[in-house]
Amino acid sequence: MDGESRAGVRVGFVGLGTMGSRMARRLLDHGFSLSVHNRTRDREEPLTSGGARRAETPAGAASGAGVVVVMVSDTPDVEEVLFGPHGVAEGATAGAVVVDMSTISPAATREFGRRLSGLGVGLVDAPVSGGSEGAERGTLAVMAGGSPQDVEKARPVLEAMASTVTHVGPLGSGQLTKAVNQVIVGGTYLAVAEGILLGLRAGLDMEAVIEAISHGACRSWVLENRSANMLRDDYPLGFRLALHRKDLRIALEEAAAAGVEMPLSSLLAAVEDAAMTAGDGDADVSVVARELRRRSLGTTP
Ligand code: NAP
Repeated sequence: MDGESRAGVRVGFVGLGTMGSRMARRLLDHGFSLSVHNRTRDREEPLTSGGARRAETPAGAASGAGVVVVMVSDTPDVEEVLFGPHGVAEGATAGAVVVDMSTISPAATREFGRRLSGLGVGLVDAPVSGGSEGAERGTLAVMAGGSPQDVEKARPVLEAMASTVTHVGPLGSGQLTKAVNQVIVGGTYLAVAEGILLGLRAGLDMEAVIEAISHGACRSWVLENRSANMLRDDYPLGFRLALHRKDLRIALEEAAAAGVEMPLSSLLAAVEDAAMTAGDGDADVSVVARELRRRSLGTTP
């Protein structure tokens, strides 16, 4: 799609947090005609000063839009934004597609899809991986669920925010894929934290260690992008620990329903619960390393 065609596509965007603010910026940069709304209204300003229209409510952001992107925290938040007072469902026109890019429950996603389809509005679940860096650079990995027609309608908008947009199956499949992603990446956070702590305790030069091992088999996004946090014992956002714990809850619920045992995710959930009890819920998820420091050293050096 060229710039002129994109300018003709009206996009509503609800939820301008760590991820949403950066993703909405990408849409503006790609020339989409954008209406934005955020619950905390002053977060709209950086987008409106860049050319986006300010919508008073989620319904206002959806009004007249062909595609409405939602990027909020958890399942009840998506429900509120879609179906609460002045929600997206009140403003969306028949034929529009809502693209929920938040990470939420697959079962609730299917239910939201049924409710929207009664209004002639499509739903695509399109959670993302790639962190705030991926949102900033427009290099997210999108895992999309929904009907082929709805996913194709959403695709030009998704491609402006992502390196890859993979249609993984019917509605809810995107969220299930994200649960798989979070199980794998979550285990990696814990493994990287453990390895770093072992190296520190053994007196190794950890900068050199990370340089040495990051070209071998343990290479990972977490090692590349979050080991510095763990070494410094400083955990700027990123991805809030409380949000990752929410993702583990979703994955563990799906695992229980499917009769799958997930020992690593259960252990990580306990470590994350302890870190949240210690007051680290708003830090980046790499703060699991601090929890291991507390346990290993009895203090945070
Ligand atoms: P965040 O910085 O905490 O932002 C959350 C956004 O949701 C804010 O705009 C917040 O509005 C809005 N919100 C929350 N509850 C709401 C409600 N009930 N009604 C209206 N708005 C509500 O979170 P984030 O890091 O951007 O993450 C957003 C989603 O992406 C989450 O599902 C997360 O799991 C997923 N995700 C995050 C990352 C990451 O690296 N951060 C990566 C992949 C996926 P206010 O500004 O008013 O609080």
